Amino acid sequence: MVGTPELRDLPPPPPPKRSFDVAIIGAGIVGNALAVALAKQGRDVLLLERDLSEPNRIVGELLQPGGVRALRELGLEGCLDGFDAVPCLGYQVTYHGEPVHIPYAVAEDGKRPQGRSFHHGKFIQKLRAASKATKGVTIVEATVSKNLIKNAASGHIIGVRCTPKGTKQEISYFASLTFVADGCKSNIRSDFIPKQVQVKSHFFGLELIDAKMPLKNHGIVVLSDRAPVLLYQIGTHETRALVDIQGKPPSQTDGSLKAYMLGAVLPTLPEEIRPSFRKAVEDSKSIRSMPNSWLPPTMNQTPGLVLVGDSMNMRHPLTGGGMTVAFNDAVLIRDLLADVEDLNDTDLVLEKLFDFHWRRRKLTSVVNILAQALYALFAANDPNLRVLQKGCFAYFQLGGNCVDHPVGLLSGMLRNPLVLYYHFFAVAFYSIWIMYKTTSPLLWPVCFFRSFAVFYTACVVILPYIWSEQQ
Ligand SMILES: Cc1cc2nc3c(=O)[nH]c(=O)nc-3n(C[C@H](O)[C@H](O)[C@H](O)COP(=O)(O)OP(=O)(O)OC[C@H]3O[C@@H](n4cnc5c(N)ncnc54)[C@H](O)[C@@H]3O)c2cc1C
Repeated sequence: MVGTPELRDLPPPPPPKRSFDVAIIGAGIVGNALAVALAKQGRDVLLLERDLSEPNRIVGELLQPGGVRALRELGLEGCLDGFDAVPCLGYQVTYHGEPVHIPYAVAEDGKRPQGRSFHHGKFIQKLRAASKATKGVTIVEATVSKNLIKNAASGHIIGVRCTPKGTKQEISYFASLTFVADGCKSNIRSDFIPKQVQVKSHFFGLELIDAKMPLKNHGIVVLSDRAPVLLYQIGTHETRALVDIQGKPPSQTDGSLKAYMLGAVLPTLPEEIRPSFRKAVEDSKSIRSMPNSWLPPTMNQTPGLVLVGDSMNMRHPLTGGGMTVAFNDAVLIRDLLADVEDLNDTDLVLEKLFDFHWRRRKLTSVVNILAQALYALFAANDPNLRVLQKGCFAYFQLGGNCVDHPVGLLSGMLRNPLVLYYHFFAVAFYSIWIMYKTTSPLLWPVCFFRSFAVFYTACVVILPYIWSEQQ
């Protein structure tokens, strides 16, 4: 159609921008943090997200104090305000009905730090709003295809192909540096990471309404003869229950899963929680689940490409460490790239990514190894692990540094792998001692041989994870 003479005289609109300094695939936890951090460095950032509506997921609902601190360093701590996020002051671990209190340890500033727990989707929307409000960030709702754009001669990743929401036509964007932040089910990682994701268990999530918590503002970990159960408030009235199930879970369709929840899990929970747990099970049409994955980190070596967040590295969510790792990685990447003026300087960027791989380990290897090792002890599916589980609980009962150091590591505030190894083996020896103490002297010869098996099991639990973190 021919326009009015005035409109015809106007210059044509500029073509949509297709070239950026940085492209980020995924506006989730780490994608938004990086978008804001890099745009604040004056870079032109494209943030691609397949679905900008509020996610409804059972992941990423408790942010440890080390994550809160990183969020503050990114200037994003305001994202924790105004949506009913609940302060978290530490944990209570309940072992066969007996509780031990594990408050977050006093930090260098002399204060006890706090974590926050919340509805994941609401927090994500806060982060996305922060990205949108940051000068230099362009957000596009589009699904990125697995086939990134590569310079055939150099192997350098130079951009992405994606399909904007509501269209069928694929378009391309070009960037000096592309970040893959597409989460735990990344469909891009397999082209760049040789390691396989391992899944040993699933978390089944229920939302309890007006649950009476045994200890307010604390995560509750329930240990029994079964795999662990986690409980924490995600709003004034809502509490998340995450029930770990190893191996093949009972069927939802024939009602076995609900029967398992009510018959096997419910009796292990603190009394006051049971009515709301029962109601949540009975009212749920289908209980949602997520795989609990382990993926050791891999060094980014492809020019023009950086894998971050769950697409590159995952650990069991028992200790709620994923977001803390993600935000701290964003801080580290921001700082390392601060003096890189031109992101096309491939050699310099790869040098920075080499530094990133080794420097992030101070925190991430602690969070990763602790999550995997603690899960093995808390799920205790063999007699030697049960000795270690009992010993671990008794160790926490000692209080002092036997609590402060482990919770300092878990919260992301204490970043020293040696402290982790020290306490892990202290737990192993203490467990053996508790075994002797609780066994009749007549059976001590049996304990003598058993203690080697327990120590061997402890080594098998932790050493492979320590090894994988050294790669
Ligand atoms: C059951 C469970 C419970 C957990 N609980 C906690 C907890 O309490 N505390 C904690 O710290 N961590 C927890 N975690 C881990 C935490 O959720 C993750 O570490 C964190 O969400 C990782 O952030 P991310 O940015 O890598 O991925 P995500 O936050 O998942 O973001 C990925 C984004 O990429 C988008 N995307 C994916 N593919 C494409 C594509 N092709 N194109 C465009 N966009 C795409 C997705 O829509 C999404 O928005 C839990 C994990 C599980 C499994």
